[in-house]
Amino acid sequence: AKEGGSRQHRRFTADLDDRAGEAARLGVEMRMGLDTGQFRMVYQPIVALPHGRTKYVESLVRWQHPERGFISPADFIPVAEQNGLIVELGEWILRTACDQFVVWRDRHGADAPQQISVNVSARQLNEPGFVAVVADVLACTGMDAGHLIIEVTETAVFGGGTAVQAVNDLKDLGVRIALDDFGTGHSSLGLLQTVPVDVLKVDKSFVDNLTMAGRHAVIATALIQVSNGLGLDAVAEGVETAEQAAELYRLGYLLAQGYHFGRPVAEPDFRVSEDLAVPV
Ligand code: C2E
Ligand code: CA
Ligand code: CA
Ligand code: CA
Repeated sequence: AKEGGSRQHRRFTADLDDRAGEAARLGVEMRMGLDTGQFRMVYQPIVALPHGRTKYVESLVRWQHPERGFISPADFIPVAEQNGLIVELGEWILRTACDQFVVWRDRHGADAPQQISVNVSARQLNEPGFVAVVADVLACTGMDAGHLIIEVTETAVFGGGTAVQAVNDLKDLGVRIALDDFGTGHSSLGLLQTVPVDVLKVDKSFVDNLTMAGRHAVIATALIQVSNGLGLDAVAEGVETAEQAAELYRLGYLLAQGYHFGRPVAEPDFRVSEDLAVPV
């Protein structure tokens, strides 16, 4: 048994070395990727129910690596958080998304999204200069602060540090705050008492299986009630079918996002498609 244990230990540390080595390699390549323009942004519509008109748009980062191909942000954002590159990458993301938003407003007028949502990670939010960067981006693009939504997660805000102060400073600028993946953390409801939130993004896990009677619908209903009671916008995330959209509308959801309405792409189609309307 003793021998088995040590073999297991060796295997475990080898795994850790692999992972650390891989993260270090990814970090070096990310630095290069930033310098050579390998990152780009895609945008996913957040639509109003029942008609399906785009109201907001969420920006999502993509990395097309010259040898490794497409790398998911779920894989490289945590590495960028670790090595600190998220600060520079995050600033690029914010500027690129806001520049794009202004172009759409000029080009599409009334069909353009009203606001753009940008994801911000814990490390960015705790970076002392972050709020100043946001103010600078707004000044450079001439964008109204009210046109920008910053998406934060519960872990980012709860991680201690100065994140809550940063959120309050953003609010003072007039920026809107969305709580991402709502309902998946440890005290999502408690957070609503301390953080000035404007938008609740109800996690995909509550939307999945919604059309089967049961607990999912009960929770989704409770979340919309909290949201309405506090005067917040609630966005249902990860809506993949017309049935889910119809059920969400029936439960009181007025905003939805997901593959059913549009995948994240470089240039979303903002025109209303009657196919996407929920029958009323
Ligand atoms: P998230 O912020 O919760 O973003 C939603 C994710 O769900 C996106 O994955 C989106 O493409 C995907 N999605 C949207 N609709 C559907 C659907 O109907 N079905 C399914 N199965 N998935 C759907 P993506 O783009 O791979 O991003 C993954 C995560 O990486 C994001 O989760 C976010 O945490 C992080 N991320 C992405 N872009 C950024 C960014 O610009 N900055 C930061 N800090 N994090 C980012
Ligand atoms: Ca998000
Ligand atoms: Ca989310
Ligand atoms: Ca997520």
